[in-house]
Amino acid sequence: MEAIESDFLVIGAGVAGLYAALRAAEHGSVCLLTKTSLSETNSAWAQGGIAAALDESDSPQLHREDTLRAGRGLCDERAVDVLVREGPQCIKELENLGVRFDRTPFGYELGREGGHSRRRIVHAGGSSTGQRLVARLSELIVQNPQIRLVEHAPVVELLTSDGVCVGARALCDGRSQIVLARVTILATGGAAALYQRTTNPPGTTGEGIALAYRAGAELADLEFIQFHPTALAVPTARSFLITEAVRGEGAYLLNAQGERFMLKYDERAELAPRDVVARAIFEEMRATGTDHVFLSLRHLDPTLVRTRFANIYEACLHYGLDLTRDLIPVAPAAHYTIGGVRTDLWGETTVKNLFAIGEVSCTGVHGANRLASNSLLECLVFARRAVAAAVRLAPPLLKKRSFVACEAPQSDPHSLEQIKQIMTRYVGLVRDREGLERALRELSALPTDQALIARLIAQSALVRTESRGVHIRSDFPHEDPKLQAHTIVQKDRPIRWEKNLQMGSP
Ligand SMILES: Cc1cc2nc3c(=O)[nH]c(=O)nc-3n(C[C@H](O)[C@H](O)[C@H](O)COP(=O)(O)OP(=O)(O)OC[C@H]3O[C@@H](n4cnc5c(N)ncnc54)[C@H](O)[C@@H]3O)c2cc1C
Repeated sequence: MEAIESDFLVIGAGVAGLYAALRAAEHGSVCLLTKTSLSETNSAWAQGGIAAALDESDSPQLHREDTLRAGRGLCDERAVDVLVREGPQCIKELENLGVRFDRTPFGYELGREGGHSRRRIVHAGGSSTGQRLVARLSELIVQNPQIRLVEHAPVVELLTSDGVCVGARALCDGRSQIVLARVTILATGGAAALYQRTTNPPGTTGEGIALAYRAGAELADLEFIQFHPTALAVPTARSFLITEAVRGEGAYLLNAQGERFMLKYDERAELAPRDVVARAIFEEMRATGTDHVFLSLRHLDPTLVRTRFANIYEACLHYGLDLTRDLIPVAPAAHYTIGGVRTDLWGETTVKNLFAIGEVSCTGVHGANRLASNSLLECLVFARRAVAAAVRLAPPLLKKRSFVACEAPQSDPHSLEQIKQIMTRYVGLVRDREGLERALRELSALPTDQALIARLIAQSALVRTESRGVHIRSDFPHEDPKLQAHTIVQKDRPIRWEKNLQMGSP
């Protein structure tokens, strides 16, 4: 097949990739590759909404403070500043693109979620925010003549020339397709589907992290995998997420004995940050010998529950549970990959002309614990920045075929099941040295790309001998001030620690 040549190559079509492609199309030709269809992304599943300081009683400063508090000393303050200051502008831009957020006669209908001191979550169609957002951005993508969209085209390697990224190789209908581009933007999402219980779509196995690693990029903070506290725990159901916006509206948690327990763990009770709530649920399940606790919405206005959380209400009904009348069994499930490809404040990675945005990246905004609804915001803010930086950079298109391909990855559905078992058993919500070492031994026997990512997560978790944010070590239960630093992983180098994540960006 002849190579495709494009100014921008965007890999991944979640909110980060879609938004980047649209903005890049204002400056040149764009090739947008996605291994799934446009509607099959984490982004389309997002429920709660997008956090942004839009209300008069709110401010970027307050949003910043909440984000830093949740991040347990590991947020990059400059990245957080960028996030909270540029966030409101992104919401306005989405509205200009035709996204309709829910409103009251007085302004945005703002939701509240754990760790936020204000109501600041904008949403669309109640808890269908992701679906609405993806639908509108996708509509614009397919109408845009500057964008060449190729669905069901997994990228299997990044191409480099003298250490500079010059494009990628994808599989289209099983055949190799080279795409050469001035700038490559990785927007491939996270890796939470490497666990058995996950809120993510099955394909979310961190391929972009492996692509970047093989191309020589630095990865950061991989040990921080966020578990969402309240995924539906019904044997016949996949781990369907029940957004914490329901707790924002007053829903509370009960243990197997029917007792409220969150106040024992944190004065913010059900609205404490996710790491605190997930850990409390884990402790209650262990104390009562059960594999779930309950979420109660029975005391809330049934009309509000049915309208504000319509898709969750319908999903639960499907499993014979009525949100307005029944106690809903829930348990933590792997949800979000906080670490990823290390970037500067403009999304550029340590490989020249390779950018990373959205969940695949590690910009430092989440620290050791992501604040709810900050991730879609991160996708938007840093997609916008990455395109701006790429336009400034304007590198030439490499036409001669002097690039080298990074090793091609392998995947195998059978070993993916094994990896999920290992990750769930030994690299889950609570870890210890013995389990992590065992995970590493078992994973080393598996040659696939997913096993590589799983190993990097386990190695990073092993060296972080403390509990911080979402990383909980039963053998090191406290934070260690000496480890208030980032783990950095790079091919052919031992793991190292760095105090600052940001690399002196403009
Ligand atoms: C159930 C659920 C609810 C959530 N709710 C919220 C919320 O309310 N608010 C919030 O802020 N966040 C929420 N999140 C998190 C948020 O949705 C994600 O962090 C965000 O959508 C990630 O977007 P992304 O564009 O980085 O990646 P994704 O949306 O995951 O998209 C990744 C894209 O990359 C493609 N891809 C992957 N590998 C390859 C490859 N090798 N080649 C080509 N393409 C590839 C995929 O096909 C896909 O198109 C939620 C997540 C889940 C799972």
